[in-house]
Amino acid sequence: MFNVQDKKTPMPEQDPEVRNSNFEEVAMGYTAEMAINEAKRCVQCRKPRCVMGCPVNIKIPAFIAKVAEGDFEAAYNIINRTNTLSAISGRVCPQETQCESRCARGIKGEPVAIGRLERFVSDWYRDNVNKMPEKVPSNGNKIAVVGSGPSGLSCASELAKRGYEVTIFEALHTPGGVLVYGIPEFRLPKVIVANEIEKLKNQGVEIMTNMVIGRVLSIDELFEMDYKAVYIASGAGLPIFLRIPGASLNEVSSANEYLTRINLMKAYRDESDTPIMSGRIVIIVGGGNVAMDAARSAKRLGASKVYVLYHRGEAEMTARLDEQLHAKEEGIIFVTRADPVEILGDADGSVCAVRCIRTLSGEPDKTGRRHPVPVPGSEFLMKADSVILCLGTTPNSLICKTTPGLEATKKGLLVVDDTGMTSRENVFAGGDAVTGSATVIMAMGAGKKAAEAIDIKLRMKQGLC
Ligand SMILES: Cc1cc2nc3c(=O)[nH]c(=O)nc-3n(C[C@H](O)[C@H](O)[C@H](O)COP(=O)(O)OP(=O)(O)OC[C@H]3O[C@@H](n4cnc5c(N)ncnc54)[C@H](O)[C@@H]3O)c2cc1C
Repeated sequence: MFNVQDKKTPMPEQDPEVRNSNFEEVAMGYTAEMAINEAKRCVQCRKPRCVMGCPVNIKIPAFIAKVAEGDFEAAYNIINRTNTLSAISGRVCPQETQCESRCARGIKGEPVAIGRLERFVSDWYRDNVNKMPEKVPSNGNKIAVVGSGPSGLSCASELAKRGYEVTIFEALHTPGGVLVYGIPEFRLPKVIVANEIEKLKNQGVEIMTNMVIGRVLSIDELFEMDYKAVYIASGAGLPIFLRIPGASLNEVSSANEYLTRINLMKAYRDESDTPIMSGRIVIIVGGGNVAMDAARSAKRLGASKVYVLYHRGEAEMTARLDEQLHAKEEGIIFVTRADPVEILGDADGSVCAVRCIRTLSGEPDKTGRRHPVPVPGSEFLMKADSVILCLGTTPNSLICKTTPGLEATKKGLLVVDDTGMTSRENVFAGGDAVTGSATVIMAMGAGKKAAEAIDIKLRMKQGLC
């Protein structure tokens, strides 16, 4: 029976006072009863706008209808046809600005909780079926994928489904990209990512870690090794630093370094041999998802006070609303409309305070976003023991520098055509390496699109279509 309930079925969560000192997942997921109840809120629109809001085109009403019937395996199969990393996207996708923002139920109440249902179905499948995909017979063509973040993983999976022999070359010692080194365990447990990677290996995809393309091998050398096409999904992992006095003091770090030490190197565990700075008072500079992740991690590592310092208003923060809310519930303090101008150190060179200045909204730029303008004479001091910078990232220029003819913008973003091909024949690119820091689902969508383009191009060349 149709569920007229105006609000989403709530998702059980760990209590804020408990979770702010552990790294276990905050949101605990729906039970089967909750999922069915929520699925029955879907009106099954004849022209589903939610699907248009999904970068990987999941047949949303169809999978939700199966959830409403209690046929979770059929629901999973529908999702899996277009999204092979659903346990991940169900957790971290900004559904509120994508599929859910177009849901008909959202007009008079809250939209259907599409993300929560996607997560439920994927978790149910992993716990109850977890059938590993089978390897498709080889079509004899080798493809190289550079980087094992969501974009590389989704491209590899789509190509393996079509019979390509795919090798992923990953610079780090663990595959997964930002999914393992950036997004914390309490939002995306590493076992979830590991299970998706296991599925990929079962599809026959080989993953070679500790392989920095541009150093160990160049893109041209990959072609010499008989790879027919290359997909560059190397992300945008180079942090932007502040150019203010004191920015190079010891306890000032980038979110990339801070979160990598925590996530990948497990710095919070006693047996870990990577050190981490966990000052008593921590100031996080920035207002995106990365800032929320760094702030919440610092709290979990025992900081007594964690401030998020942001130069625009709270409504302009780019972090997902859920993450902002979770951060506040966990005791993170937001200081908005203020910018750091100097980081002060004491006699032994340790951070002791941050000098800040108040800001006001200035004129809108080309995108319509207003730039913060400092208010003269409004400086103030904030005590601090460490500062973590979350100011965005850019792509590393290594691949560009070592690949003749590969075109990039001034900011180092790879230039691609509509199919995802770069200025070099049979070299494709996607994800953050092309768009700059964006979202998991956009990176996955780009990987999928490039896989289709690579397939068409190679089959045309071989006279197969
Ligand atoms: C802390 C944090 C939190 C985030 N939270 C969210 C969120 O909640 N929701 C959301 O949708 N998005 C979120 N994002 C953004 C999202 O994670 C990225 O948009 C997405 O991971 C981009 O995927 P990608 O595959 O293009 O690149 P990445 O995930 O960055 O993967 C690139 C991979 O390429 C490897 N690599 C780089 N250079 C080379 C080389 N030369 N040779 C070989 N390998 C190389 C890197 O080691 C890395 O593993 C977050 C980002 C961060 C940093």
